[in-house]
Amino acid sequence: MALRMSTLFLRTLREDPADAELPGHRLLLRAGYIRRAAPGIYSWLPLGLRVLRRVERVVREEMDAIGGQELTFPALLPREPYEASGRWEEFGDNLFRLQDRRGNDMLLGPTHEEMFTLTVKDMVSSYKELPLTLYQIQTKYRDEARPRAGLLRGREFIMKDSYSFDVDDTGLQAAYQRHRDAYVRIFDRLGLDYVIVHAHSGAMGGSASEEFLAVSPHGEDTFVRCAASGYAANVEAVVVPQAPPVDASAVPPAHVEDTPGTPTIDTLVAAANAAHPRADGRAWTAADTLKNVLLMLTHPDGTREPLAIGLPGDREVDGKRLEAAVAPAEATPFGEADFAAYPVLAKGYIGPGVLGAGTEASGGSGIRYLLDPSVAEGSAWVTGADEDGKHVFDLVYGRDFTADGTIQAAEIREGDPSPDGAGPLTLARGIEMGHIFQLGRKYAEALGLRVLDENGKQVVVTMGSYGVGVSRAVAAVAEDTHDELGLCWPRELSPADVHLVATGKDREVFDAADRLVEELEQAGLEVVYDDRARVSPGVKFKDAELLGVPTIVVVGKGLAEGTVEIKDRVTGARRHVAVADAATQVVAEVRPGTPG
Ligand code: ATP
Ligand code: MG
Repeated sequence: MALRMSTLFLRTLREDPADAELPGHRLLLRAGYIRRAAPGIYSWLPLGLRVLRRVERVVREEMDAIGGQELTFPALLPREPYEASGRWEEFGDNLFRLQDRRGNDMLLGPTHEEMFTLTVKDMVSSYKELPLTLYQIQTKYRDEARPRAGLLRGREFIMKDSYSFDVDDTGLQAAYQRHRDAYVRIFDRLGLDYVIVHAHSGAMGGSASEEFLAVSPHGEDTFVRCAASGYAANVEAVVVPQAPPVDASAVPPAHVEDTPGTPTIDTLVAAANAAHPRADGRAWTAADTLKNVLLMLTHPDGTREPLAIGLPGDREVDGKRLEAAVAPAEATPFGEADFAAYPVLAKGYIGPGVLGAGTEASGGSGIRYLLDPSVAEGSAWVTGADEDGKHVFDLVYGRDFTADGTIQAAEIREGDPSPDGAGPLTLARGIEMGHIFQLGRKYAEALGLRVLDENGKQVVVTMGSYGVGVSRAVAAVAEDTHDELGLCWPRELSPADVHLVATGKDREVFDAADRLVEELEQAGLEVVYDDRARVSPGVKFKDAELLGVPTIVVVGKGLAEGTVEIKDRVTGARRHVAVADAATQVVAEVRPGTPG
């Protein structure tokens, strides 16, 4: 098969598109693979669609290999199933909702647990029909708050989602493991540098869950790794262990001190060292202070609830960990109006004295108060005294104040101890490419999916759900593999096997190129053939580099000596081969290991 550039529906751009922030995304636009239709919504042009189809092929082959059966559900769906699972509300603003002409509520599917569960419920009644793995490769819709980097975070995107159905936990674990192995093969074949990390199960519920992250500085996810134990987790899923209690018997009673003009941790530490030095001679640091951060939660049903988080003053609340910890509620900073509603909160000087569900009776705020687990029982803190310009010193957790629980929301830092105690953590960023989940019985229970077991008893089916970002993979590979000249596709994903450039004005050049293209086609290769007549060699070479097909063949000047050039797009290595051998040589290059 040959794509002739003289007729191919393609226009490459010399200039960088203005609104593309990442290099791979810029190149996909410049090379004419995709076009933006609206924020987070893209059209696939012929070359782009070919890459997308190749990703789909990899995913499909590996899903079929573990016994997955492909089907397709509609993207346009009725409200009822999502109402029954609670997700009509839970998805919040991320859900595209619409109405049909009769006023029925509809939605564009963001993920399809409900449809799969209900369909299996309709069609399966006995344990004999399980285990079952179903999948689709289908367009999903999410009204993302921040669509980003083109295909990387779209509002319309393509996902492979699969679902496993089993009668018992052993079956679920086996299905999960099969998917995990298939995902390893998929991401190996896509040529991505990836890690498998523990993931937060989030609003989906369920227990065990792992993510496949492509290691990339452009990733929106941060993950940790411990070299000593191999532990790896998305920061959202890191569970910092509760610090063990410490002895507070030598800590003097708490005392309130004047600390005027110290609403921030830095000003507080400076004032404390200047006016209230420590008895042991060591200087106060931010880690000695307890910072109390106020937030407003909005629950899926719209109700609002204030929340206070207490954490050491040298740490910030991590947005993603917070989001995961409070999901499906959403957290926003405490606004002026919120402070006005709680006059007992002295902004900049808020302390545990007025925080906690039980404090209303004693004139406190009654706001739920959660502590970072690094705050040990018996530890002493410098913190707000709930009065402008005053802080309290030697305030001991468990002796002088309590909380309503703990929350995993503080930032994780390079060098922090691994939760498994094996050594320090390192941090890096990644792009979430896949997510595998042991859902358990949540959806089956909510939607009534039961089968008869061996003893004729009704049992609730246990499920897994597994996703791969198919369109995101195109973007991730582009980010991972491009160079300053253009895209650099791995063979498995390239829109063609060979990019053949014919340069010059002579008829013989084009005749020789035509013949070579024909030979390559006969050998089963797919060829992008630059047969354009009045385009300069320079432009053709630039386009070949931009498009990123891994093998470039040049039929041109060398023809006088009876040779053509074979060039490796990535390494730039070039060699000349005799015209008569060219097809064999190119085939050998494209399919190493197979006899030509
Ligand atoms: P993220 O944390 O990146 O928003 P998610 O956890 O919401 O992703 P899942 O619901 O687990 O995503 O979806 C399965 C897969 O679909 C993800 O692993 C990712 O590869 C892909 N995906 C999710 N959202 C998008 C999107 N907006 N654009 C492109 N791909 C996406
Ligand atoms: Mg996910």
